[in-house]
Amino acid sequence: MDAPAPVVLVGGGHAAAAFVNSVRRAGHEGPLVLISDEPVPPYHRPPLSKKYLSDALPVEQILIRAAAWYDEQKVMLRLGTRVTAIDRAARRVELADGSTVDYSQLVLLTGARPRRLPADIGGDLQGVLVMRSLADAAAMAPHLVAGRRLLVVGGGYIGLEAAAVAATKGLQVTLLEAAPRILQRVAAPTTADYFRALHRERGVDIREGVALRRLLAEGDRVCGAELQDGQTIVADVVLVGIGVHANVELAERCGLAIDNGIAVDEFCRTSDPAILAAGDCCSFPFRGRRIRLESVQNANDQAAVAAHTVAGKNMAYAALPWFWSDQYDTKLQIAGLNQGYDDAVPRPGKTERSLSVWYYQGDSLLAVDAINDAAAYVTAKKLLERGASVSKGAVRDPAAQFKDWLA
Ligand SMILES: Cc1cc2nc3c(=O)[nH]c(=O)nc-3n(C[C@H](O)[C@H](O)[C@H](O)COP(=O)(O)OP(=O)(O)OC[C@H]3O[C@@H](n4cnc5c(N)ncnc54)[C@H](O)[C@@H]3O)c2cc1C
Repeated sequence: MDAPAPVVLVGGGHAAAAFVNSVRRAGHEGPLVLISDEPVPPYHRPPLSKKYLSDALPVEQILIRAAAWYDEQKVMLRLGTRVTAIDRAARRVELADGSTVDYSQLVLLTGARPRRLPADIGGDLQGVLVMRSLADAAAMAPHLVAGRRLLVVGGGYIGLEAAAVAATKGLQVTLLEAAPRILQRVAAPTTADYFRALHRERGVDIREGVALRRLLAEGDRVCGAELQDGQTIVADVVLVGIGVHANVELAERCGLAIDNGIAVDEFCRTSDPAILAAGDCCSFPFRGRRIRLESVQNANDQAAVAAHTVAGKNMAYAALPWFWSDQYDTKLQIAGLNQGYDDAVPRPGKTERSLSVWYYQGDSLLAVDAINDAAAYVTAKKLLERGASVSKGAVRDPAAQFKDWLA
């Protein structure tokens, strides 16, 4: 009798590593093949704009699992090769190297790729970089030299984190944000104010509410930027951090439903019962709406859900979203999702540098940003996991104790 076709994973990021771990723990013993277009096994992406970038760590230190672990889990790793097509009728994927792999079930863990600036405004000049992969970090590393001038385009978390690393290394950093303020899409003004002040203290020139007109070049190399208001900025290197596109094209081309990502249900099943998806590449139903998240927590938790589905032990996705960002010596921890908030209540922490921001819709707590305030984060996470809230009055009252909120 023929051996059963393997479960095939497309993509080698956080979700892939978590899937392998979960599917074996869930009791699935069949063959697994992991195909990734990157040359190394799955690694932690967050350090790329944080410690890995600043300290030039060896790659081994950021691998999620050592290469040998995949052997122990009986996973065939096919690295450095891309899946180019899915033949759903034949249950087969085609690879860029011309080979094909049959699957019993297919799990799409293709993640996301950075948005780039259009070529007609200089987006493809030399020295215009993005930050998503080890290759991107390697391209950035030689530029991290004191005295050089870095322009960061985009005031989201990745741009701010890279700006922090560069400023600490003595670069002259300008950060440009077209929206009225940094972190506009993801955080309340209080959180943005905190990080703006933090960066300005360290000498980062943050310019908000002004868009880039075009990048300037000397030959084919970037040398600066012209802004919509006519100002010019001199730069030796430009880092573009303006969000990502979910990698949905493989799924789209084979006719799977797409809705701001590969559309999956609460069990990570796509519109084809033999194909699942998890992580940054997919959108899923969550508390009455469809969302797509870009976080390690989500990649790990969704991968665990997909793994249970593959193992025939359905487990609906119900995890509480959480996120973090490190900038200089400041740690931001976020519990919950603030989308749809109508009020954000600040609460000073125990030290001058600590603060939390409590997001509400009506009287319901949605999320908390905790800045250098682990106690606020832990309290908020527990409340949100229970579906509980705390009054705005208590948040505003400096004498109110976190432990009483959980009683
Ligand atoms: C610089 C940076 C900092 C971050 N910081 C944080 C943070 O502090 N906290 C946090 O929670 N999250 C952070 N994130 C986000 C987090 O890393 C992502 O949410 C997470 O990596 C998503 O995991 P994933 O497995 O879904 O996708 P990815 O990690 O993107 O992995 C997808 C993989 O699939 C491969 N692939 C895609 N298409 C194909 C194909 N056709 N064939 C073969 N392989 C393919 C890709 O090359 C990639 O290796 C950060 C991300 C970046 C880039």
